[in-house]
Amino acid sequence: LKLAAVGGRSAIVFGERLLDLELTTGGVLPADPMLAFPLVVELGRDGIVDLVADDPNAPRTDEVRLGAPVPRPQKIFGVGLNYRSHAAEAGLEVPDEPLIFTKLPSAIIGPEDDVLLPGGPAEVDWEAELVVVIGRRARRIRPADAWSYVLGFMCGQDISDRAAQHKGRGQLTIAKSYDTFAPIGPVVVTLDEVSNRDDVAVRCRLNDSEVQAGRTADLVFSISDLVSRLSAHHTLEPGDLLFTGTPSGVGLTRRPPRFLTDGDILETEVEGIGTMRNRCVLDSPGLDPVPATGACDAT
Ligand code: ZN
Repeated sequence: LKLAAVGGRSAIVFGERLLDLELTTGGVLPADPMLAFPLVVELGRDGIVDLVADDPNAPRTDEVRLGAPVPRPQKIFGVGLNYRSHAAEAGLEVPDEPLIFTKLPSAIIGPEDDVLLPGGPAEVDWEAELVVVIGRRARRIRPADAWSYVLGFMCGQDISDRAAQHKGRGQLTIAKSYDTFAPIGPVVVTLDEVSNRDDVAVRCRLNDSEVQAGRTADLVFSISDLVSRLSAHHTLEPGDLLFTGTPSGVGLTRRPPRFLTDGDILETEVEGIGTMRNRCVLDSPGLDPVPATGACDAT
């Protein structure tokens, strides 16, 4: 199954068309993608396909603007240095324990949305990643059972401001959680459609030239191991996300370094899932600065 979101509503790819999940199942499945995930796991592929009524008038997938397929995850985990190739290019040893960080859910954007560059001293970098979507509540599960809690995969970009990331003792959460720094999509592909869940190609193109190409077979900590470890202390909820790390080829380790600039087009591809295309644009000045005098000037 391929699950999408259009205008905040859950949708399913059926042939070349995109069907509204609530309407096509006569209300059996909910419109809110976050509520649909556990039911999709429970009913399984066959159960869902039985419910879906095709609609020849439904739009084709290329006729609508897709939103983030998981719009409001409760938690987003990331893993640092989880590809041997990326650890090597960074000149760092492969860690003994997974280096886990979090990204704020407010950083989520869709597969066609713009990444906002703050300008100034920011050094904004790309990281193409396979993202794991949790399908049902998981607490203290064993690695051998972990896959049964996973709904599926999608593409993700773990965008980072390297200047902020390396400032002082490091600011991983902040530097990776600016607004728009977590593009995801284009769809969630459920595990039944993934041919080899432990070996999937991950690619990144910047303005049509390939900058990253790796395979998840190169992961230091496997997906089932990571899901099990995370569940030991954090109850995983449907729609929680795990960014599984990035292969070599990020901008920071290039000579000279290459950071994202206004107008760059970032394409993220995961084998069997699809491609996400995000434009990078310089952010506007935004809110008016606080006036120098007036009510706030109490000191
Ligand atoms: Zn990352």
